Amino acid sequence: MADDLSVVNGARVSFARHKDAMDESDEGLIRFLMRERHGTPFEHNAFRFHVRCPIFVAREWFRHRMGSFNEFSLRYARATDDFYVPAAEDVRTQVGKPGAYSFEPVPDEIAETTRDKLQAIYETAYLAYEQLVELGVARELARCVLPVGAYTEFYWTVNARSLMNFLSLRNSETAQREIRRYAEACERFLEEQMPVTYAAFVANDRTAP
Ligand SMILES: Cc1cc2nc3c(=O)[nH]c(=O)nc-3n(C[C@H](O)[C@H](O)[C@H](O)COP(=O)(O)OP(=O)(O)OC[C@H]3O[C@@H](n4cnc5c(N)ncnc54)[C@H](O)[C@@H]3O)c2cc1C
Repeated sequence: MADDLSVVNGARVSFARHKDAMDESDEGLIRFLMRERHGTPFEHNAFRFHVRCPIFVAREWFRHRMGSFNEFSLRYARATDDFYVPAAEDVRTQVGKPGAYSFEPVPDEIAETTRDKLQAIYETAYLAYEQLVELGVARELARCVLPVGAYTEFYWTVNARSLMNFLSLRNSETAQREIRRYAEACERFLEEQMPVTYAAFVANDRTAP
């Protein structure tokens, strides 16, 4: 539900003008709006993503208030046996000070121990969950035993301005690797649907207008 023309028409309504097709002057207008941080014309569109991710990624994502969310409910539905175990190459150690960490690979045996321990705790947690539900404990309470590595799913509807803010923060070296992978995927949709806006965003040092 998004295209570059929505930006152009959002801006050109100031002069009671409307375009049905993009031309070179419109591309220049988008670059101008991005550069000068005239942000509101980038709000007349919407992207709707259906996301499946671990709860700890969703918690970071939900901090982005300028968008709409609806999430899978562990009050109403039964939890699935579906948990995040990082690939061995994604198990990392942190080096440095808070705010300036760098993340470096760990030896293979530490990566395997991490994966094994996660898997074991997920199995124990899920077994406890199932036992509580079988005993008649409400799902909304039984879910307390589930770790933040459990998968959830949600709909996220967002306009291009807010999406660019999300991308500048989360498809960034400073973002956690797991949410960054999702942000990289979201970024491909912006590039595909709004190529002129996307090029201007990149040319503007990835600063959202
Ligand atoms: C690397 C990284 C580390 C982080 N670490 C932490 C952490 O340790 N603890 C923590 O709590 N959070 C942390 N956050 C979350 C961060 O503080 C933001 O909540 C999150 O990135 C959402 O950004 P946002 O407010 O720009 O987005 P949105 O909520 O989508 O807002 C978009 C824009 O709207 C405007 N806006 C929205 N709401 C208001 C408002 N109430 N008043 C004025 N302007 C508003 C602002 O211009 C804002 O940039 C971290 C984020 C990143 C990327």
